Amino acid sequence: MGIMFVVLRPGSGKADLRRVLRRAVGAGCRGRVLADAENPTVAVSGETSKLEPSGFQVLPGVREVLAVGRLAPQAPAGRRPAPAVVEVAGGKVRIGGDRFTVIAGPCVVESEKSLLRIARGVKKAGAHLLRGGAFKPRTSPYCFQGLGEAGLKALAAARAETGLPIVTEALDQRSLELVYEYADVIQIGARNMQNYALLKEAGRLAKPIMLKRGISATIDEWLMSAEYLLAEGNSRVILCERGIRTFSGHTRNTLDLNAVCVARGLSRLPVIVDPSHGTGVASAVVPMARAAAALPSHGIMVEVHDRPGEALCDGHQALRPAEFADLMRDLAAMSRVCGYRL
Ligand code: PEP
Ligand code: MN
Repeated sequence: MGIMFVVLRPGSGKADLRRVLRRAVGAGCRGRVLADAENPTVAVSGETSKLEPSGFQVLPGVREVLAVGRLAPQAPAGRRPAPAVVEVAGGKVRIGGDRFTVIAGPCVVESEKSLLRIARGVKKAGAHLLRGGAFKPRTSPYCFQGLGEAGLKALAAARAETGLPIVTEALDQRSLELVYEYADVIQIGARNMQNYALLKEAGRLAKPIMLKRGISATIDEWLMSAEYLLAEGNSRVILCERGIRTFSGHTRNTLDLNAVCVARGLSRLPVIVDPSHGTGVASAVVPMARAAAALPSHGIMVEVHDRPGEALCDGHQALRPAEFADLMRDLAAMSRVCGYRL
């Protein structure tokens, strides 16, 4: 059982739709016209693996054929009236549309004092949201695992002082409950992208979710994980490309900017980029952040630390506050040419 979306050009007529439906039925599949689509769209379901997209592509009026995986994603562009804009903190910040949103902060909350120092710095430079992990998915069990609820409390204090909404990760169902109480955006990390039980829980919550792409996840798998959130009723989902594992050995990961373009084409969800984990090398973060803005994507999430050498996690990929401020100036200068609002 699979699904394929056949998207027609605006203004296509009933005859065009009927031709698509006939071809679907002729191939032993079912076809259904989607009622709420911006462009006329037919969802074709059944043994779609045997269908050639080109069989639909050649029909009059057909703009594109999206074969998105095994289940019916709500994410495809074209089915809903407009690309999603995700409201954060009661509309204080909006992610998506023509906005370019910048999330910045330390990898992990180390203490309230250090978080406040960094939060003030990123706020002054113009960040829109503050990031920081209280529950950390560390590769080694002997590394700092985060402050837990004390970290969330520190984030809340930083929000109270700076006014920046906070993004922080939930590691499992238990931490999700706590994170839900404090966070403005709940992060589901790369390692948990296919933790379907966690996705289902998060999908039931009334807070935006930032879903990072898994380290070895295909784009379809990433979108289908987003679908778990949407299917449970949470429409405020932000996708985050954070680099994938490849044979390219000089950086921690390979930031897959292709995937940003593809995900934007296949989905109406905002797509942001994490050049910090995507490269793992501080000197590569600014260039790749600029590249993300030039695509454009809907924003970036970058790690910033005022004492990278002493950081308890990911100091090697942290920007110093002054470097971050320079980056913000670059992004402002690029905005007119690239067509986004900062
Ligand atoms: C993070 O953003 O803190 C993080 C752990 O990222 P990822 O899940 O992408 O590794
Ligand atoms: Mn990190």
